[in-house]
Amino acid sequence: MEKLVLLPGPVMVHEDVLLRSAKQVMNHRSEEFEEILTECVELSKYLFQTDGNVAIITGSGTAAMEAAIYSLLEPGEEVVAVVNGKFGERFADIAERRGAEVRRVEFEWGKVADPERVEEALADSDAEVVTLVHNETSTTVLNPAEEIARICREYDALFVVDAISSLGGVEFRMDDWGVDVCVTGSQKVLGCPPGLALVAVNDRALEVMEEKDAGSYYLDIPKYLEYLEKDPKQTPYTPAVNAFYALHEALKRLKEEGLEARWERYRLMQRIVREGIRALGLELFVEDDEIASPTVTGVTYPEGVDDREFRGEILRDRYDVVVAGGQDHLAGEIFRIGHMGEVRIRDMITAVTCIGLGMRELGVDVDVGAAAEAMADVLSEVS
Ligand code: PLP
Repeated sequence: MEKLVLLPGPVMVHEDVLLRSAKQVMNHRSEEFEEILTECVELSKYLFQTDGNVAIITGSGTAAMEAAIYSLLEPGEEVVAVVNGKFGERFADIAERRGAEVRRVEFEWGKVADPERVEEALADSDAEVVTLVHNETSTTVLNPAEEIARICREYDALFVVDAISSLGGVEFRMDDWGVDVCVTGSQKVLGCPPGLALVAVNDRALEVMEEKDAGSYYLDIPKYLEYLEKDPKQTPYTPAVNAFYALHEALKRLKEEGLEARWERYRLMQRIVREGIRALGLELFVEDDEIASPTVTGVTYPEGVDDREFRGEILRDRYDVVVAGGQDHLAGEIFRIGHMGEVRIRDMITAVTCIGLGMRELGVDVDVGAAAEAMADVLSEVS
């Protein structure tokens, strides 16, 4: 039986998207592929809420992060990296690998980034680039990208945002907020199989990139944009053609639903999960609703519950529900329920109920009935 996969990526994929990717390959330097590529780029602009440029690279989200850093920074240049989880750390590590002078602005895992501290770091350095992870998947915290963008503008620094696990699932307005570079991946909110990385770049950042000595041959963003000017439009290297078919279908579905409606749907899924978990009597890793991720929810394990046993033998094997564990020092401390991709209200109700039943089997005192009531209350507010 197919499992209910509730990971914060990769995610379950709609049948139409999966079937599109099963079509025969085509010449990637043909008018036929040009049409798909061009539509993917145009629809991605809607996704990012930008009139700028979008490069689509074959690779996972990390490729997009690396492309942004290696195209924008040269060795010795300063960057302020906001770090409050594993992926913020990854941005800093990539910049270090590039040879940049990295100034980390660190926060405890599970806490939100404080824009004032970013401002202090900018006031006290020559950094021209700031990195931030919008939705820190490892800690289930949503960072204040809009506020930090405002500060970057004041200091004339380029703002690079990883929206890999948020874009499409929560309000994000690249141009209106003044984000210069934004990256995302296909296997999260977009509901595609893994394989494509999207990078949006405004003209200001592109000008800077064009002056730099790109540190990577493959992940050279201006080159991807140059190839979008060719006749026919194409990618510099062989793209994952079938992944493009899937992305095309997924982006059309997103446009049809509408961004605002989708953001709303994600908020509802988030509320169902959070209120359900609370009513069970379990502890949310991020208690404050204001900073909690709309696409993934972390739950702190009650004393004595073994992560492997709970997520493996109980949830996965008995209930066919797959959730993620904690990362790095949070391994064994929390588990994470992804609510992104091809998931609906029904799946959230199933997840909370199975989590409650599973915990009960392990002797944890949870109230499954109260969780059902709480979820019904959330639903009654919107119906
Ligand atoms: N950034 C964030 C916020 C993520 O959630 C992830 C993946 O979970 C990544 C970066 C890395 O993406 P990938 O595993 O696709 O390289």
